[in-house]
Amino acid sequence: MKYVDEFRDGGVARGIAAALAGEVDRSRQYSFMEFCGGHTHAISRYGIAELLPPNVRMVHGPGCPVCVLPIGRIDLAIGLALERGVILCTYGDVMRVPASEGLSLMRAKARGADIRMVYSAADALTLARDHPGREVVFLAIGFETTTPPTALVIRQAAKAGLANFSVLCNHVLTPSAITHILESPEVREYGTVPIDGFVGPAHVSIVIGSRPYEHFAEEYRKPVVIAGFEPLDVMQAIVMLVRQVEQGRAEVENEFTRAVTRDGNLAAQAVVSEVFELRPSFEWRGLGEVPYSALKIRPAFADFDAEARFGLSYRPVPDHKQCECGAILRGVKKPVDCKLFGTVCTPDNPMGSCMVSSEGACAAHYTYGRFRDIPVVAA
Ligand code: SF4
Repeated sequence: MKYVDEFRDGGVARGIAAALAGEVDRSRQYSFMEFCGGHTHAISRYGIAELLPPNVRMVHGPGCPVCVLPIGRIDLAIGLALERGVILCTYGDVMRVPASEGLSLMRAKARGADIRMVYSAADALTLARDHPGREVVFLAIGFETTTPPTALVIRQAAKAGLANFSVLCNHVLTPSAITHILESPEVREYGTVPIDGFVGPAHVSIVIGSRPYEHFAEEYRKPVVIAGFEPLDVMQAIVMLVRQVEQGRAEVENEFTRAVTRDGNLAAQAVVSEVFELRPSFEWRGLGEVPYSALKIRPAFADFDAEARFGLSYRPVPDHKQCECGAILRGVKKPVDCKLFGTVCTPDNPMGSCMVSSEGACAAHYTYGRFRDIPVVAA
């Protein structure tokens, strides 16, 4: 297929790997965090880590929206469906994330709750229009990529005066999470998570642009290279990061120029800021409470805010004791460090959120790393 195969060419990948091997300083280690779950998936799927010189290490970041959703937020959604009789709808992967008391949205559905999978925010709005006698709540999750569609349906619902539609908003913000990681004791104090630079998100950056990352380059002296999700994009971004490190530069560079600009999508940003405002604090799985790291619905649209409409109050819930998702999302541990990985915990029976979505580090390692012998980047 044109425009995709070019970015998956095994010969070119090996050429980039050979060039990279000639550029790295063998006397030092390089550690780069891929913030986004899409890159984690690509690195596992195409065997990119195996192509890199042994002193270049990729660290998984917290950029998988399903992974960072804490149990307490899923419990709120389950409560609405089981106790308040709403039609609760959300994206497919969220359905299987473990919640409290052995439940998940899928298991709550099996108990009789009316929980439905949708492919888009627009589908959720259609459900509300099709069931005027029922309350329909859209459990909205995701980074800046999926926020504009949620904002749009809230605006449409307001315009149409739809009285039975609301959103349980869990949209989170990438730059705040990166700041939190850079300020964490593991990075700043103990140095147990060395980070020499970031592979910046692709889809998120289409919306927010490359400008928000300039702060990390200037203030923290960390290079950022925004990259597409294809294997050659990721390889090229790693080369660009190594060059910055070797040349003593800390800049924001854009490998994904075919889609990302410095300013991003201004129309999408405008609709988001019309409908949403910053939350003072939000709990992330693995990162804990992160200040100003998520969005809530503005008072002007309170009729469509499920938290206000149903008087919900958040209760934090600890993860499964043996699940290492939190440490994995902070870059402190790898999936194989978890005792449950591949035995008790598999994609068919996930014990933690990182084993649910294909963007989750545990699911990516399980699918491509340990149990299957797949070639390193298709030739
Ligand atoms: S393997 Fe399962 S239990 Fe272990 S960290 Fe990953 S998701 Fe959690």
